[in-house]
Amino acid sequence: MQAETEILIIGGGLAGLTAALHLNKVGLNVTLIEKDTYPHHKVCGEYISNEVLPYFEWLGLDIENLAPALISNLLFTSLSGKSIQTKLPLGGFGLSRYTIDHYLYTELIRRNVNVIHDRVVEINFANNQFTVVTAKNTFVATYIIGAYGKRSSIDIKLNRSFINKRSPYLAVKAHYKADFPNNQVSLHNFEGGYCGVSKVENDRLNICYLANYERFKKHKNLLAFQENVLYKNRHLKAIFESASSLFDIPLTISQISFETKEPVYNHILMIGDTAGLIHPLCGNGMAMAIHSAKIVSELLHQRREGKIISRVALEESYTLHWNKEFKNRLKMGRILSALLRNHKLESLAMNALTKMPFLLRKIIKQTHGKPITISS
Ligand SMILES: Cc1cc2nc3c(=O)[nH]c(=O)nc-3n(C[C@H](O)[C@H](O)[C@H](O)COP(=O)(O)OP(=O)(O)OC[C@H]3O[C@@H](n4cnc5c(N)ncnc54)[C@H](O)[C@@H]3O)c2cc1C
Repeated sequence: MQAETEILIIGGGLAGLTAALHLNKVGLNVTLIEKDTYPHHKVCGEYISNEVLPYFEWLGLDIENLAPALISNLLFTSLSGKSIQTKLPLGGFGLSRYTIDHYLYTELIRRNVNVIHDRVVEINFANNQFTVVTAKNTFVATYIIGAYGKRSSIDIKLNRSFINKRSPYLAVKAHYKADFPNNQVSLHNFEGGYCGVSKVENDRLNICYLANYERFKKHKNLLAFQENVLYKNRHLKAIFESASSLFDIPLTISQISFETKEPVYNHILMIGDTAGLIHPLCGNGMAMAIHSAKIVSELLHQRREGKIISRVALEESYTLHWNKEFKNRLKMGRILSALLRNHKLESLAMNALTKMPFLLRKIIKQTHGKPITISS
């Protein structure tokens, strides 16, 4: 049986869940398909920039009630153990994906939005409409929002160019019990990668790192890799040695790609990581996912009201908005990551930042947006 819907969102991470809440609020017919059930843990540093707060308030979401850790300071340490601290221009909060994704999902259910647990396997576009094949069903939709994350079998089916390029990154995350300042996010550089540390709700400490896979492979297991590589940064050694894991085993993901992607592909409007992933050291991927959900939802609303006259105009407008808001942030993320991977440059940059700490705040501003406000 074919199910019909006006807008179909594929993927219920932060981008897809936010878009569904927005579209529902402005009265559009929306269905969301997510392959997994809620709640579940995800590999993520779980530090969210405060730029999302005005938009969340407009969506009727009460983040405060989830008791996040309120974060206002950044500590950065280099491979050699040098450190620099600054106040974050906007600040942010620490909240686990287990909690925030589940909260947004329960809000969708409370607001009677159609959420289906199924895996999308194929998307076809013909005669100005989409046919979406899932493991259990077939859907027909006028518009599709691609919110299925960094990497999916859908990208292979669509033959997107980034998927054929090998990515050298692996990421690891777990929650710990440890003494750590509630208001601090710290970023620690190590050979071939970097590690973020910050509190989330319930006094849990998130430790999440991105590492070069080739280097990782040379070690027997995660523990050996951490001891031989991460512990060379004395700050990381001290954190790990004083922390006890709350997970049986850490979560890991590989093949993380920071290649350029297309915000619109085969007429699918891509949001969140599906449109492009910023290096996690910028701590802004979630805010970007949420912001892109807002942009696409506003444009779809304008299309429904006839203010955007065609599908072509909608796609052009979304591409324009996406590039204007996010292209430079992604570029800055790539530059910073390359800088951290080069010892000499990292050491020069660290010396410069120690002498001119205001530069660090400038860099943070380059990789973050302004508070997300609503025009309508
Ligand atoms: C190591 C690491 C650390 C990070 N740390 C931070 C941080 O501290 N702060 C920050 O702001 N950002 C951080 N990020 C980035 C952040 O995690 C992402 O930008 C964010 O998760 C993007 O959300 P999303 O909704 O686009 O994707 P996701 O959260 O990945 O959601 C995609 C959803 O689509 C579903 N899906 C996939 N395929 C299908 C299918 N075929 N059918 C149906 N459903 C499907 C998945 O199950 C998933 O639920 C980090 C990223 C990494 C890799």
